[in-house]
Amino acid sequence: MSKLPDEAFRDTIGTIDKEGKRKFIFPKKPSGKLYEYRKWVSYFLLIILIANPFIKVNGNQFMMFNILERRFNIFGFPFWPQDFYLFVLFMIVGVVFVILFTVIFGRIFCGWICPQTIFMEMVFRRIEYWIEGDRGAQMRLAKQEWDIDKIGKKGLKWTIFLIISFGIANIFLAYLIGSDRLIEMIEDGPMGHFSTLIALSIFTGIFYFVFVWFREQVCIIACPYGRLQGVLLDDKSINVAYDFVRGEKELGRAKFSKKEDRGATGKGDCIDCKQCVNVCPTGIDIRNGTQLECVNCTACIDECDSIMESVGLPKGLIRYASEDEIEKKAPFKFTARMKGYTTILSVLVAILIGLLFLRTDVEATILRLPGQLYQHKGENISNVYTFRVINKTNNDFNSIHFKLANIKGTLKVVGKQNFKVVKQGMVEGTLFVEIKQYLLESDKTKLKIEVFDGNKKIETSRTNFLSPRSFD
Ligand code: SF4
Ligand code: SF4
Repeated sequence: MSKLPDEAFRDTIGTIDKEGKRKFIFPKKPSGKLYEYRKWVSYFLLIILIANPFIKVNGNQFMMFNILERRFNIFGFPFWPQDFYLFVLFMIVGVVFVILFTVIFGRIFCGWICPQTIFMEMVFRRIEYWIEGDRGAQMRLAKQEWDIDKIGKKGLKWTIFLIISFGIANIFLAYLIGSDRLIEMIEDGPMGHFSTLIALSIFTGIFYFVFVWFREQVCIIACPYGRLQGVLLDDKSINVAYDFVRGEKELGRAKFSKKEDRGATGKGDCIDCKQCVNVCPTGIDIRNGTQLECVNCTACIDECDSIMESVGLPKGLIRYASEDEIEKKAPFKFTARMKGYTTILSVLVAILIGLLFLRTDVEATILRLPGQLYQHKGENISNVYTFRVINKTNNDFNSIHFKLANIKGTLKVVGKQNFKVVKQGMVEGTLFVEIKQYLLESDKTKLKIEVFDGNKKIETSRTNFLSPRSFD
C-alpha cells in the first residue's frame, strides 16, 4: 500500500513494548451494525459448540474426537482407525475449504467463526466491560492502587473467568472422551477418576491463562492459520481494509474542522480520530494496511462508520474490500486461483460423499495367516486365516457366523461357530477353511466369505485359498 505515514509498525507489534514485555491493550467496547450481526452469529455458534457433544445421531455422538481410543464421530458418522483415510480426507477437505475461503474472503473466519475470537470477544471481553467498564475505566483501574474497589472488581472478574474456563474444559472433554463418559464420571464423583480430574484441571488452567492473560496473542503469535495469511491473501482477496485513496487524498489525513469545506481542501476523509485503533482488539492501526494481527473482527468498520456519520462524510472509509478495489477501483473478480481451489474442493467433497455412502456399518477382514501355506487333510486342502469383525453400529450382533459363498467346503471358527460382537465392538479370531482338492482349479483360488448375523447377511469378505501346484 502506498502513502504510509510511518513504517515502524512493520517491526513491532502493538501488544509488546520496546523491552519485549507484554503490553495489555484496552479496546474500546465495539458497537454498530456489524457488531450486532456478529453477536447473533456468535450466540448461534456458541450454542452449536456447546450442544454438539450432547447431540446424538443414530445413537452416535454428533461430534467426537477421542484421540486416546482413536475413535472419531463427525456429523454422527463413527470413524474407526480402519476409516482413518476418510478422516484424513475430511480434514483435507476442511483445510482446502479454509484456504479457498481465505483466498476469496480473507480472514473473515477469524473474526466471525473462530471459537477463540468468539469466546474472547463475545464472552470474556463482554464480562470485562460489564465489571470494569469501557476502555477509559479499564485503563484507570489498571493504574489504580490495589484498594478494595480494584480487588473486588478483579476478584469477581477472575472468579467468573475461572468458572467459565472450567465449563469450557468440560465441553472440551466431552468432545474428547464423549459426553456419556463425562456424565458418568460426574455422577461417580471426581475422586474415582483422578486422572481425568487432573486433565480437566490442566485444560481449565490453559483456558484461564489464554482468556485472562494470553488473549489476542493466540491470534498474533500462536495460531498457524494467522501466520499463513501472507501466502494466502493477494490483491484480490476481500479484507477489512482502509480506503487510503479516499482517506489520505492529496494532503493526507487531518483533524476535522467544522469551519472548512473538506472536499475543497485536498485533505483526506480520515479525520485522524484514532477511534479505529482504540476499538481494535489486537491493538493495530488498520490504516497501515493489511496486517497479520488483523482478525477481521470488523470493529473498526463500525467505529469509523459512526465517526463518518457524525462528521457528515460517507460511510465505508474502512470496509470489506480488496486492495484492487480500493487502489484501481476494480470490481470483485473470480480469479484463476479461486477457480482452481473451487474445482479441487468440489472434487474432494464429491469423493468424500461417495466414500461416506460406500462405507459399511460392519467391517469384516479375513486374511491368510502370515507364513502359512496349506495343509493336506486326506483328500482336503486346509488353509488357516485370521479374522476381525468390527461392529460400528449401536446394536449388538448376537449371532455372527461365516459361510463360504462361491465354493463347496467347510469353514470352522476356532472356538464358537456363532459369536457375539457388541455395539461399537470388535472380535478377532482364527478360522480354518477345508476344500476338496478336486474342486480347486488353480493353486490360488479366490474365496468369497459371507458374514451373517442370524439369517441376515451383513458383509462379504474376499480372500485367497492356496493349494499345491498340481493343475498344470
Ligand atoms: S476511525 Fe476512521 S476517521 Fe477515525 S482515524 Fe480511523 S479511519 Fe480515520
Ligand atoms: S483492524 Fe479492525 S478488523 Fe482488524 S482486528 Fe483491528 S478492529 Fe478488528
